[in-house]
Amino acid sequence: MSVAFFSGAESFKQQWPLITDKLDQILDEGKFTNGPAVQELERTLEVFTGAKHCVAVGNATDALIIMLRAAGIGAGDEVIVPCYSFFASASSIAHVGATPVFCDINPSNYMIDVEQIEQKITPRTKAIMPVHLFTHMADMNRVNQIARKHNLLVLEDSAEAISMFHEGRHAGLIGNAGVISFFPTKTLGAIGDAGLILTNDDSIAHEAKRLRIHGQDEGTPYIHHSVGYNSRMDDIQAAVLLVRLQFLQREIARRAYLAACYNSMLSDIPQISTPVIERRSDEAANAVYYVYLIETEDRDGLVAHLNSQGIGTEVYYPHPLHLQPCFSHLNYQKGDMPAAERAAQRAVGLPLYPDLTEEQVSEVCGQIRHFFEKEV
Ligand SMILES: *Cc1c(COP(=O)(O)O)cnc(C)c1O
Repeated sequence: MSVAFFSGAESFKQQWPLITDKLDQILDEGKFTNGPAVQELERTLEVFTGAKHCVAVGNATDALIIMLRAAGIGAGDEVIVPCYSFFASASSIAHVGATPVFCDINPSNYMIDVEQIEQKITPRTKAIMPVHLFTHMADMNRVNQIARKHNLLVLEDSAEAISMFHEGRHAGLIGNAGVISFFPTKTLGAIGDAGLILTNDDSIAHEAKRLRIHGQDEGTPYIHHSVGYNSRMDDIQAAVLLVRLQFLQREIARRAYLAACYNSMLSDIPQISTPVIERRSDEAANAVYYVYLIETEDRDGLVAHLNSQGIGTEVYYPHPLHLQPCFSHLNYQKGDMPAAERAAQRAVGLPLYPDLTEEQVSEVCGQIRHFFEKEV
């Protein structure tokens, strides 16, 4: 039995009639970017997340760049960011002319090691960018406390964190602003690229709305207040997202159920560790499993075995950001971030999406067991 790392075909088939109804409306209205469906999505997500402002853009990489610019980050500034993340967490900082200052992670949950943040602060530091990954959230109480003490902004890379809440506040709204990605494989996926900035800050929202359309105000085109971008969301994507949002809680519950299946089937394999949610018990109970990440010593051997059996895997993240060739001028060395470098060697994501069946989970776990039995 082959098991794809990601597939959304079945859910899409179910949701497709609702989506095509919505697409018909869009064709009739004839506005295909930043149009009525995009505005409806923004208002709907403001209710869903509790954000004062949601600003839809082309993708979450653009959302990070626009959020940083809208918050006033630019040339000469430093932003503290974990080195274990998707590339865009750091590239967005470089794109606005600032310098990413990398921080190691807490090895038990892959989140920024809050104990190391203060030693990275210099007179140039303007912001901390915590990243929420997989099913984990950064220690936002500590991050906010440090930011307040040193008068820094907190700009969250919450691209993976739709529906993740910390003490009742949605990811991205715990600091000054955050982003959401609707890349097709994310918890709430479009059928192409789409992203969002969310904030309770009026001035960040105002500037973000300008920056997404060439720095002009809505209603007064051809007057450019800032040198902005062309990063609008397509109404087709907004339509898909509005329909899929209605299924989101059900899909998140399904993910949690499948994660619990993995937990129980893998619990007696000593060579691997399964995700540990280190949060308040009510938050842990509502954890959103975007990625089911396990760790093991012989990760590459396990991946090769699973792939040979037709089981898809994804290594998050094989190359820590401080060692990327494009950041070599920042002079980080191998060994500087031991926890991230170790995770990069050991961690791997297993298939996890609402369409996955219990039989498929059991097939994946059976093959993992088989691999380790062969090994001894
Ligand atoms: C997916 C992701 C992004 C980028 O999102 P896109 O919409 O693909 O640009 C940024 N940061 C993290 C942590 C992500 O997982």
